[in-house]
Amino acid sequence: MMPTSGPYGTAKPGRSEFLSPARALLQFFSPGGRRGHLSILIYHRVLAQADPLFPEGGDMESFDQQMGLLTDCFRVIPLADAVRGLRSGSLPARAACVTFDDGYADNAEIALPILQKHGIPATFFVSSGVLDGGRMWNDTVIELVRRAPGNTLDLRGLNLGSFPIGTIAQRRHAIDNLISGLKHMPPESRQFRIEQICSAIPVNLPDNLMMTSEQVRLLHGAGMEIGGHTVLHPILASTEKSAARAEIANGKEMLEGIIRAPVRFFAYPNGKPERDYLPEHVAMTRELGFEAAVSTAYGAARPGDDLYQLPRFTPWDRGGQARFVFRMIQNMLRNTEVALH
Ligand SMILES: [Zn+2]
Repeated sequence: MMPTSGPYGTAKPGRSEFLSPARALLQFFSPGGRRGHLSILIYHRVLAQADPLFPEGGDMESFDQQMGLLTDCFRVIPLADAVRGLRSGSLPARAACVTFDDGYADNAEIALPILQKHGIPATFFVSSGVLDGGRMWNDTVIELVRRAPGNTLDLRGLNLGSFPIGTIAQRRHAIDNLISGLKHMPPESRQFRIEQICSAIPVNLPDNLMMTSEQVRLLHGAGMEIGGHTVLHPILASTEKSAARAEIANGKEMLEGIIRAPVRFFAYPNGKPERDYLPEHVAMTRELGFEAAVSTAYGAARPGDDLYQLPRFTPWDRGGQARFVFRMIQNMLRNTEVALH
């Protein structure tokens, strides 16, 4: 189990006995300098309470505990410092960064105060086109299925099949099915499909899931980094080349207009090399003036690695503090060679 309730600093007995060998072990595997490893953690949402449809996702309490453990075990630094450290071979020992993708309102409402409490500088990769009342397409599917009345979701008229939704597990199964079928479709056809599903299930959908522009400014004003994540979150590998470039460039420009400061870093939507983005998109982010970019390939970055494909990983399981450290070390030892050269 994770250390039980209580804010950072009031750990259960045993915490300090654990921390000293844990730090020594992490120091051994991540000694800093030219032999350093940069662990970049990735988060999406931080909910006030766990969502019964996604019990594996993070809630506020476990996020708070994980941030406490992270600052106890790692040197959490801003992404800009980490990129500089990778470039010059001067990473601190046990270096880590915290990042968030997509731009959920809970990042500003729930995660920010927790990050501030722990003194953690984070980077928020925001899809600019869903701010101010927009919604990620996958959330549209999730919220539709969550609210759909009755025990059956009949989408046979759209050739999407029929799903039993009498139980939470069945609703989750329907969501996973629909999302995996839609994920890699070209954005326009996907949008068309989603609008069809919306008209087939007449329910009210929330329009406050994503941040407002004001909340993006709030994060930036609190010293957090705002990074690009395209406008509408297309899978770049299935998007026409000029449209992909426009998505990356316009997302950056829109965010710079909001925060009135440069947007220096980029996260590839979905982020798996070769499947979700290609070498041409890596070149685009460099040409468009980003200083570095992150993927969702597992592993930890080392000096000499491609700064435009930094891997990310988060152990979101609740296996306790020893398991967290073990998983972080295991991730450092992965072969971080991403497939693109
Ligand atoms: Zn994303």
